[in-house]
Amino acid sequence: MTTSVEQQPAPLAYWPGFGRYQDPEPLFRLRDRSDARKPASSGAKIREQAYSDKQTLLAELALKIDLVVQGIALDLGVLHQFAIGTKYLEQIHLLFDMDREHHGDVELPAAFYLPHGLFTAFRWDPDSRYRLRAEDGQPVLYRGEQRVAAIEFYRRPALLDNKTGDGESFAHIAQFGPEGNVGIFYSNECDLKHTGDDCRYCNINSTAAAYREQNIFLKTPRQVGEVFAAAHAQGRAGHINVTGGFIPERREVDYYLDVADEIKSRSGVKEIHGTAVIGAPLDLRIIDKYREAGYTTIALNLEIWDRDIFKAICPGKQKRCGGWDHWVKALEYAVSVFGRGKVRSNLVAGIEPKESVLRGVEELAAKGVICFAGAWCPNPGSALEGHRTPEAAWHYDLTLKAAAIFAQHGYTTLELYDALGASSPFHDAFRINAGENVADQLAQWTYPSR
Ligand code: SF4
Repeated sequence: MTTSVEQQPAPLAYWPGFGRYQDPEPLFRLRDRSDARKPASSGAKIREQAYSDKQTLLAELALKIDLVVQGIALDLGVLHQFAIGTKYLEQIHLLFDMDREHHGDVELPAAFYLPHGLFTAFRWDPDSRYRLRAEDGQPVLYRGEQRVAAIEFYRRPALLDNKTGDGESFAHIAQFGPEGNVGIFYSNECDLKHTGDDCRYCNINSTAAAYREQNIFLKTPRQVGEVFAAAHAQGRAGHINVTGGFIPERREVDYYLDVADEIKSRSGVKEIHGTAVIGAPLDLRIIDKYREAGYTTIALNLEIWDRDIFKAICPGKQKRCGGWDHWVKALEYAVSVFGRGKVRSNLVAGIEPKESVLRGVEELAAKGVICFAGAWCPNPGSALEGHRTPEAAWHYDLTLKAAAIFAQHGYTTLELYDALGASSPFHDAFRINAGENVADQLAQWTYPSR
């Protein structure tokens, strides 16, 4: 029987964030990596220390979420002190721009590590209370005049300097995450724009126009195969996520099958530890083809759990994919093909009430679907540009509750990463609760060799 979120016994009640969220100010006074900590010497002290470590990591998780919600301001003079685009990875807009505004030629950092190990996307907002500063050549975050944390930018993977046989830069085709994930963005436009049916929170088409020189519209299966094979040869292809906008006439299945053939023939893998991200096909039997081609997981991002809000926010998905009920049927069917925990969905958290989002996460978890609920970022060029996402406390509470749902349904860390190859706040919350930290550090998770 499916239990609603409200009916659950107080899950993980020792986590902060259940109940009224406190002023985050004390939570954000984090230590730098260099801070020394005395070892515990007795059972009680060890438990006390373990509790304290968990609170430290949860505080860092709260900070990570706040940094995504509020963004980070900066001065160009400070930014130019860091080797963004050479030593450190720059933002490459292969799909969406999550900054407050499109920023032309200004190279912004893609991501960084917080002091206790949490990997965090860099989102620029010129009006944010958070600001990037430089101290002795090192990047540091301030909140107003309060020093919050020293950070480490994510180093630029050398693979991005490679080129395919036809001369295309790998940086125009893929991203390489620290987990060992290869993110392929096969098209950087969405055909829904031709009928004005883009999802209202989505800025894929505005991003494609703003960063035209960074992008090529459609990556050929051969290019994708070459990129994967190069990453695989270096042990950096633990997972691949293939996604993009709707392509004309919904020819995505043919494309994905060609990509699978190229990956297998060029790298020698028999199964593709990776996710095909698709729109719900009207003929559900098409889903079998993705499994037969070798993909081990599949994603169908529903985006909104409330049927009526879905119609308003995702008009294209409503019209072209059989509507909300059909989309849920497609997720159920995908579980029957790929297996429990091998199907992913996503809800854009912050457009509908939290209770509705959590009901979706819970009901889908019970059906065998791992459904994330990433924070809505009202990004430039989307129909909802200028709106506001809920406060960080709202997203923090949602994150803890969704992670608790995943745990209660027996999903594992590996399944969460096989569903989504990125260290999202949901992955962090799940791992912190599972005790995967070592003292007050949560090490970067990486895929096992495959
Ligand atoms: S289907 Fe919606 S979310 Fe996906 S790319 Fe198109 S407009 Fe964006």
